[in-house]
Amino acid sequence: MLRPRFVTYLALTVCCAAPTIAQHRVCLQGDERLVILAADGEIEWEMPWGEIHDLHVLPNGNIMVQRGTSEVVEIERTTRAVVWSYDAATSNGNAGKPVEVHSFEPLTNGNVRIAESGPARIIEIDRLGKLISEFPLTVQRPVVQPGTRVSRPHPNRDSRLMRSTPMGTVLVAHDMNGVVREYDSDGKVIWEYDVPMFGREPMGGQDPESFANGCFTALRLDNGNTLITTGNGHSALEVTPKMEVTWFLTRNELDGIQLASVTTLQVLTNGNYVIGNCHAGPDQPLLIEVDPKTKAVVWQLDRHADFGNDVSNSFVLDDGPEALLLAKAQRIHRAALTLDTHKDISTTLASPDYPDDPVGAARARLSQDPTVWGTNQVDFPKMRAGGLDVAFYIVYVGQGQLDDEGFARAREIALSKFDAIERMARRYPEHIEIAHTADDVERIAASGKLVACIGIENGYAMGTDLAAIEEFHKRGARYMSLTHNRHSQLGDSNTPEDVTLYGGLSELGRKAIEEMNRVGIMVDVSHAAETTTLQAIAHSKAPVIASHSGVDAIRLHGRNLSDAELLALKANGGVIQCVAFDSYVKGDGGRREFIARSREELGLPPQRGSQPVDESPETRQKLKQLRDLVTAFDAKIEKANVTHFADHIDHAVKLIGIDHVAISSDFDGGGGVQGWNHAGETFNVTLELVRRGYTAEQIEKLWSQNTLRVWRAVEQVAADLVKTKD
Ligand SMILES: [Zn+2]
Repeated sequence: MLRPRFVTYLALTVCCAAPTIAQHRVCLQGDERLVILAADGEIEWEMPWGEIHDLHVLPNGNIMVQRGTSEVVEIERTTRAVVWSYDAATSNGNAGKPVEVHSFEPLTNGNVRIAESGPARIIEIDRLGKLISEFPLTVQRPVVQPGTRVSRPHPNRDSRLMRSTPMGTVLVAHDMNGVVREYDSDGKVIWEYDVPMFGREPMGGQDPESFANGCFTALRLDNGNTLITTGNGHSALEVTPKMEVTWFLTRNELDGIQLASVTTLQVLTNGNYVIGNCHAGPDQPLLIEVDPKTKAVVWQLDRHADFGNDVSNSFVLDDGPEALLLAKAQRIHRAALTLDTHKDISTTLASPDYPDDPVGAARARLSQDPTVWGTNQVDFPKMRAGGLDVAFYIVYVGQGQLDDEGFARAREIALSKFDAIERMARRYPEHIEIAHTADDVERIAASGKLVACIGIENGYAMGTDLAAIEEFHKRGARYMSLTHNRHSQLGDSNTPEDVTLYGGLSELGRKAIEEMNRVGIMVDVSHAAETTTLQAIAHSKAPVIASHSGVDAIRLHGRNLSDAELLALKANGGVIQCVAFDSYVKGDGGRREFIARSREELGLPPQRGSQPVDESPETRQKLKQLRDLVTAFDAKIEKANVTHFADHIDHAVKLIGIDHVAISSDFDGGGGVQGWNHAGETFNVTLELVRRGYTAEQIEKLWSQNTLRVWRAVEQVAADLVKTKD
């Protein structure tokens, strides 16, 4: 057992300079409320909230905090709604056990790590609450010190805060043990530090007179040392990997301050430490920023009168340029009306019919009930969490035979999708409303509800019946694409590339555009061949959209628009809604070709759908080699992410101007872009645009104003055509 050796630490006399040189914007809980204090001390935001044990402010500004003793929740700040929750007491084998959650961490992969006191384990769950990994916490004292009890798992005091290190390990402050342990990803304890008693006797309680070798937070510093706040040890200390104490802040060392329970801990980018001073009494600060080199108090938060004696967790929100950029992007994102022009649906959307068996019913609910954080990329909680206000719900029909039977079937599918969208709006009127005009979109959003618009993907749905267009308009459709994959009765699709049916638009396609102009439906050229696109733009009296397409200049792909198409769209007053669908955003490095080549080199036959499986050991060995090669290939190829996606926006803006570019996801029919792979991550798009220097006004145009402008222009053309007819 290694004993801590004391290296000289400087007990500098702190001079009497008046504190509060700096100011900070802070999130904290106290006095039964969760609060954000502006740097000038004003309450910027608040909501009623009980006592907490841990607190994280996510990059998008949402707050992850715990509710009661065992539930972890995410709160969206504008609506103050709990958009996501996980109750550790009832989940993943814990039912009936005493469980408390004293710490959790949102992970960059979107999952959440939770330290469970009682079961004494650390779990990683995905946002559906599925257990991804777990390992047990060690809760025994390494050596029982005189005067302390032998510890055993305890739902209240197994652990205080748990924090990841840059190495991917986890530091856990085992308060009752008085031990900090570092766990590797398999749960092995790879480092352990027994907080010393400093020659004192323990004394129970929480007031300033109490004393223990506790620990509340442990953070790994850049120099490899570990910084620990000791709770009722009234101190903070820095220890090396070899457990030498290189820095120590004792109870009465700061001028005019008495440290009580030293709890929360944050290392600022300037190197200063912000520590929580909980249970310290009315004349003491709640939070203190100290310069570790001089032990000068740079800032303190004297708000005992407002927030009481139990402020245990807090987070400084304005530390460093990245935090300021996040705050700016959050302001812009909240103020902007955000509209996604392409979200696919299933005909079971909002259906109340579930299978009889409980497991099947629970699974169905996750995909059908839009009020729960479920398996779709878009549902109401994710829209709220990500600040996505408006989505075009898509009436999509796949391309089938160009005959009466095919058309009838397509019409039927389309109508069942209209039904599903209407059912959603009818069943959840407090959450969402269907917009029929561009003004509707703004009115509904201003009322605080989410907004559903309707777009049709593939004019195949109308068959050869031009009257269907007015019928679809009556059902709420406000855009319709001419094609999907493979040529429709309206025009050539981008696939197959080497075959043309009409050399662009068909005669019926021209008539359909005229009818869409007449009734007020936006013409959508996504999925169309370049010939079709250019002819549609030329033929339409109203501006045209490409509701979900990328640009060829960034990723050459049949589904993306060439510069010629973009320029035609600009001349027509239209808009491209750049799509966050991974294969249109970024190439995969020739994955398919690599697999074909590797098969050949290994002597495996080319991959085909239904060849008999060769079970010989030799073939199995080769298939394993192939899998390893593909895994290695995939590891080298960067996946499409939000910066690649923003490259499409950038190119389009540079070529045709900020007024002709917008944003779409293709969620629940695609997506796949890291960082914007569900509606809950929508803020990341705004953040990337802010990083690239786009202004609030430009971002508002991209998110909704350009699309609404085209929509209004289409409404105007329809109104004018009625007048000329009269
Ligand atoms: Zn599509």
